[in-house]
Amino acid sequence: DTSNEKKSIIFKNIILRKCFAIIEYQDELITAFEDKNKLAPIHILIVPNNYIQSMAYVKSKNKLLLGHMLYVATKLAKKFNISKNGYRIIINCNKHGGQEIPYLHIHLLGGKKLSNHFC
Ligand code: 5GP
Repeated sequence: DTSNEKKSIIFKNIILRKCFAIIEYQDELITAFEDKNKLAPIHILIVPNNYIQSMAYVKSKNKLLLGHMLYVATKLAKKFNISKNGYRIIINCNKHGGQEIPYLHIHLLGGKKLSNHFC
């Protein structure tokens, strides 16, 4: 619907570099950029360049893409030196998962000891 479109257009524009974001990684499949409201010293979002609304909309053809998103998260964790101490990867899905932007994204969080609260 149109409100979903409005909320997700920002990520599309970041990918296209029409909206500002600190882009940490980009290739033909995905883009990684700093979250604008960082919840940890390192807080990066990793998104597919081609629109997928959420994990609930993933198809068989997206399997390699999902693996690539996770792999790049591990590479970024190494680049930002948070691999050894550790980090958290989060994917919120739809309403109950607390997803606010209806554009599939991985959160990579690290650089401090994170709380153990999941819900
Ligand atoms: P969600 O709750 O959907 O899993 O997470 C959405 C994330 O997107 C939030 O952490 C929020 O801070 C981030 N975000 C929302 N709008 C923007 C924006 O315009 N630019 C950037 N860089 N991050 C955004």
